[in-house]
Parts: sequence; structure tokens; C-alpha cells
Amino acid sequence: ATMPPLLAAMANAGRHGVLIKSAVVIERLARVDAVALDKTGTLTEGTPRVVDIRPLPGSGLGGDDLLALAAAAEHPSEHPLGRAIVGAAHQRGLKPAAAKDFVSVPGRGVSATVDGVDVSVGNPDRLLSGLNGQRTAEAANAAADLDRQGRTAVLVTVGGRPAGVLGIADRLRPDAATAVASLAALTGTRPVLLTGDSSRAAVRQAGEAGVTDVRAGLLPQDKVAAVRQMESAGRRVMVVGDGVNDAPALAAAHCGVAMGKAGSDLALEAADAVVVRDELAAIPTAVALARRAERLVR
Ligand code: ADP
Ligand code: MG
Repeated sequence: ATMPPLLAAMANAGRHGVLIKSAVVIERLARVDAVALDKTGTLTEGTPRVVDIRPLPGSGLGGDDLLALAAAAEHPSEHPLGRAIVGAAHQRGLKPAAAKDFVSVPGRGVSATVDGVDVSVGNPDRLLSGLNGQRTAEAANAAADLDRQGRTAVLVTVGGRPAGVLGIADRLRPDAATAVASLAALTGTRPVLLTGDSSRAAVRQAGEAGVTDVRAGLLPQDKVAAVRQMESAGRRVMVVGDGVNDAPALAAAHCGVAMGKAGSDLALEAADAVVVRDELAAIPTAVALARRAERLVR
């Protein structure tokens, strides 16, 4: 028997690297007319590297101490920035201490107790907004300097005080610009970026990929609000993301697509489709396939 068009499209999308969870998703994909992309792990490769380590004078820490403390706190983290920090410590032969009471706050960072001391690692703006006094100005300056260099700055606090800043670099996916252009051509609107990152680096990288509408510094619920706002303006939005922080927006959207390779379990579960071949360009291909199948059905 010949396969019904929607099933054939599911199989075909699978061959192109996009796993579609059910036949109705083909119809939703076909009708997408706006796209909202996450940054880290979606527009970028999501394998960031620590390229700068700056303990603050007065913290009493050297570079390796700072990195080891950060890695201890990040050890259980699924976040790409956390994995970069753990990887960098490992590469330098450091043996981070065991941490207790690990807490991860999407869009903000992590905290844990290391050798009896509270260590937090995360977004400098968010962590510093709750602090004042010792070394906060120095920390903000170091973060701003890294930001100017196009790095993502991550703040480390020890015992509630800024101890240093790490500079992290993540490359754009090689196919980011082509995928963005194809999605823009298919939907008639340019994809927007919804990111938790608040750095200038985020805006610059988005620009390199052809994305000019950048909404930065968003918490998971802000991503949902942005999607709802687009949908109440009549758009059928496809959200593409990979993180725990993207899961609510993936679930709320007309169509959610998760990046599978490094995607978190929550994102994969919340999505309607999963990109299993680690290429952004598989997404416009899947949309085009879905449209063809829909035309056959109607
Ligand atoms: P994106 O939307 O770009 O994937 P996230 O919402 O995951 O970004 O993260 C937003 C910001 O929160 C990051 O840029 C970083 O500053 C901070 N952050 C979140 N998780 C961590 C972590 N585990 N370690 C360090 N920083 C983190
Ligand atoms: Mg992400």
C-alpha cells in the first residue's frame, strides 16, 4: 500500500534528521508562520569553552582555585555553560571538591555548598542585583569587559561575595545563517531570538546569523509570554530550543522543536518534534516537507 501523505512526511522528515512525534505535528509544522529561536545550543553549537579566568583581587583566590570552586558547584549541571566549566577544570587536571545542596535556577545559574561554603555561579546581572558591598563594582566591571570582547561572562560568588568572573565563548552553528534565511523565506517573517543571555555577545552573534529581533535576559516564563504575545497577534509560532529553560515555551507554542543532541530531557519531552541530526538546517527542510504533505491531503 502507498503510505498516507502525513505518515510518508513523518518518515521523510525522519530521514532528514527530524523526529516527528505524531502525524498531527505535520499539520502544525506546515502552518507555522513565525519562528522563535533560543540561543545557547540552538543558534550556537552549545559546546562553549572557558577562554578567560579572572579571580578578583581581594578574593584570595588564584585562577585554578576559582575554576575548581565553580566546577564543584556546576558538577551536576546540565547547562552548556556548566559543562564548559566542569570540562575546563578537568582539562587543567583540577579535582573539584564534592558539593552538597545543589540548586539550579533556569536563566540564573547554580548554587551549592562546597567545603561548607556557599558557591553560586551564573548570570552576573542577576547574581549581582541581589548584592552590594565588597567587590560588586569590580565584578560588574570585569563582566562588562568580557562582554565587550564578545564573551559570555559568568560570575562566581563564594560565601555570598563576588570572587571572580569566567569568560566563555560559544560558536555560532555553521549552518545558522542559512537556516535562518530559509526559515525567513518559508514563513515570510524573520526568526526572532528569545534568550536568557543578556550579553552584547548575544546580540552580535544573532546579527551574524541574520536575526535582528533579539529579546535578551529572558526567564523561562518570559519566553512563554513572548510566544503568547506573538500568537495573540495571530502568528502560529514554532519555538526551537534545547534547554530546561525552553521547555515551557516549547510546550506553549503552536509547534515546539527541540535540538536533540545536547537537548535536556525536559525540552525533548515538551517538544512536538526533535532534531536528531545535529543540524539547524534540518528544520526548514521539515517545514517544507510538511507543507507538501498538507497540500496532498487537502
Ligand atoms: P539561553 O536562552 O541562551 O539558552 P539560558 O536561559 O539557559 O540561556 O541561560 C541564561 C543565562 O543564565 C546564561 O547566559 C547564564 O548567564 C545564566 N546561567 C544559566 N544556567 C547557568 C549555569 N549552570 N551556569 C552558569 N550560568 C548559568
Ligand atoms: Mg539553550
